[in-house]
Amino acid sequence: MDKEQAKKRIEKLKAEIAHHRYLYHVLDKQEISDAALDSLKNELFKQEMEYPELITQDSPTQRIGGKPLAKFKKVTHSQPMLSLYDAFSKQDMYDWENRMKKILPSQEFSYYAELKMDGLAMSLRYEAGIFVQGATRGDGKVGEDVTQNLKTIDAIPLVLRRPSERELKVIGLDDEIIKKFFYAFDRGVIEVRGEAIMTLNVLKELNEKYAREGKALLANPRNAAAGSIRQLDPKITAERKLDFYAYSLITDLGLTEHEQEHELAKLIGFKILAINKFCKNIEEVIEFHDFEERNKDKVPFECDGVVAMVNDLALWPKLGIVGKGPRYVMAYKFAAEQVTTKLLDVLWQVGRTGTLTPTAVLEPVRVGGVTVSQSTLHNMDEINRLGLKIGDTIILERAGDVIPKVVQVLPKLRIGKEKNIEAPKQCPICNSEVVRVPGEVAFRCTNKECYAVNMRSMSHWASKGAMDIDGLGPKIIEQLMKIGLVRTFADFYKLTLDDLLPLERFAQKSAENLIAAIDAKREVELSKFIYGLGIRHVGEETAIDLANHFGNLDNIKNAKLEDLEKLSDVGPIMAKSIYDWFSNPKHLDLLDELKNNGLKIKKIEQKDKKLANKIFVLTGSLESFTRDEAKAKIRGLGGDVSSSVSKNTDYVVAGEEAGSKLDKAKTLGVRVLSESEFLEMIK
Ligand SMILES: [Zn+2]
Repeated sequence: MDKEQAKKRIEKLKAEIAHHRYLYHVLDKQEISDAALDSLKNELFKQEMEYPELITQDSPTQRIGGKPLAKFKKVTHSQPMLSLYDAFSKQDMYDWENRMKKILPSQEFSYYAELKMDGLAMSLRYEAGIFVQGATRGDGKVGEDVTQNLKTIDAIPLVLRRPSERELKVIGLDDEIIKKFFYAFDRGVIEVRGEAIMTLNVLKELNEKYAREGKALLANPRNAAAGSIRQLDPKITAERKLDFYAYSLITDLGLTEHEQEHELAKLIGFKILAINKFCKNIEEVIEFHDFEERNKDKVPFECDGVVAMVNDLALWPKLGIVGKGPRYVMAYKFAAEQVTTKLLDVLWQVGRTGTLTPTAVLEPVRVGGVTVSQSTLHNMDEINRLGLKIGDTIILERAGDVIPKVVQVLPKLRIGKEKNIEAPKQCPICNSEVVRVPGEVAFRCTNKECYAVNMRSMSHWASKGAMDIDGLGPKIIEQLMKIGLVRTFADFYKLTLDDLLPLERFAQKSAENLIAAIDAKREVELSKFIYGLGIRHVGEETAIDLANHFGNLDNIKNAKLEDLEKLSDVGPIMAKSIYDWFSNPKHLDLLDELKNNGLKIKKIEQKDKKLANKIFVLTGSLESFTRDEAKAKIRGLGGDVSSSVSKNTDYVVAGEEAGSKLDKAKTLGVRVLSESEFLEMIK
């Protein structure tokens, strides 16, 4: 993208993000998921990094929150409630640690890792141990006073619990800190921060109740929590049964570790997450993240990642704040289930009944932990329902282990160059005419054999005599065709583990096995390759002859009809069939695709071989070999075997009871070898 295009894209992204932010933060409404919005923000951030001169003050990347609603009293936070930076991969986490090591080179870092709850961040103020004020985050500096509503949450203590000195010593506080703590507890201020959440069970119960009462349902736990806390009537908040977990004490008590903040919060009466964990290095944080990601459905609330904090509080001021957030904290997100990406093209596949089904070709993108570059669009109906055009920015979803799908188009991001999607006039597989079925939205290839022929050609390619790809049988091929992952056998070589994992019949192991089986056959013999193409009349024998005679694919491709006819065992019909196959532009495209997708043909070292270019005819029976073994031996040494003697024949090998071929050889003056002479020659 050049600067001019980037500028336009940035403007569009900013407007779109601002719209969704307003809905989300100010009105507690949502048109697209958090993950999809994050994805847009991420793109904006990247574009701005590319062209920093295009960053403006009104960019969503330059501020940290929405405006508080006018109806609540405003509260200025004693310390700003900062945003967190996000990491999306292991590498991002290592990069983060390396950035900190640049500032503190000789420092070893240990961390406190916490589940990142998806709720509403709150700041609670206690004076002399009494809850006096609770505020939302707002724009990070100024929030909203929601004290009355927070008082309805049982998990928030109205009066702090007074811990014993012994309890404080157990969590590692020394006498001086304990003194400081009791002063703040009895006469000063203690500020606690944490997350107000709605558990999934409560959400379910409430929605069942609202459904019975014919009321609007709550969209998701985060919105439900936010909406509940911002009720002007505390009775409604109370009915929502919110929960609260503390995760930091921001009053400076002289604590030395972040972990102590959690322990102390617990001692003064807050719920903390027992799952949170001290990690002695970044690897342990990554392990914790991976484990919790796999088990995120087992916690009773929604969470979208792990927050890792440098545990040693003395390092925080040294690491400082950078931009919108602290350098000593990182949110390591779980794989998003929705992302935005672009629709690059639509390819058409012919199904079992001849119906053309569209496949979206996408700008490759990570979603749900895998990379996706295509996705089925099912039919024209689906395209119309989505209002999809080529070039559109779309929302792609891969939730759990299901096939990725395009769920929404973002039409406001269009630039006017998007193209309508039309069914092809000719079948992309067989070139036959495509017709629209009267009264249906479906398009069909008029060639009744189209699917069967294509299916057969793919099975043939993978079969034993050809590429011999283990586990790629007709059932699997059909399944892959159905969702548009393969259209021709060239597509086999594009398959990835990520493509297979969401499919039925594929577990991790079987998916790995198939990919390995395909990879194992990425370099093939020319004869098998030619046989695999499924050229009419060309069997394994002929394929071997062609390979031996021409030596490489280009020679066969460029062979004239006469050249092919001259070949022993290739009659005029077969020669024509081969010639026609290689004259078809579709087939030439297929050959290019195979090459581009990483399929290699082994070089035949003809010149170095003993019997290179020698033509043999076998007659009579040999003692040491069967006829087929002898043929294989000759071909293995670069020679060719013909069934009839001509003046082109170099040798006739005569075994017991040799027949008319021997006579013909003598007539033509072709050299005749006895079995022992032949054995000597091939030794
Ligand atoms: Zn067709």
